[in-house]
Amino acid sequence: MHYRAVETTDEYVARLETGADWRAEIESLADAVGAEAGWFTALGAVQDAELWFYDQDACEYNPIEFDEPLEVAACVGNVSRLEGERFAHTHAVLSDDEGTTYAGHLNEATVWASEVHLRVFEAPLEREYDETTELDLWL
Ligand code: ZN
Repeated sequence: MHYRAVETTDEYVARLETGADWRAEIESLADAVGAEAGWFTALGAVQDAELWFYDQDACEYNPIEFDEPLEVAACVGNVSRLEGERFAHTHAVLSDDEGTTYAGHLNEATVWASEVHLRVFEAPLEREYDETTELDLWL
């Protein structure tokens, strides 16, 4: 286990732009406020979505695509540095018109409406390739 203390410096609420990409908008928010690291929660609705499921045997992501409006019943993630860029690691629980849920790593989704709460941490967080999982994990 690797751990460290973090201190929250600022907190923001944001409404993401309709028609924009959900994850890119959170990364833009982090850019706009100069957040090198943070944690966020969000909710809202999207017009489509691509979730990723990580196959632990093959060590690769498999996409699951949705070409329909979905509620973002819950969304949680964090902001850290990946190869010098801000990366919003984003997970979401999406629901359809019958309340059926789909969940996973959110790669992309087109915003319909959203409300985000971002807590910014003082110290930056960096990701680096991990040979065991073949994922980019925190240092
Ligand atoms: Zn993930």
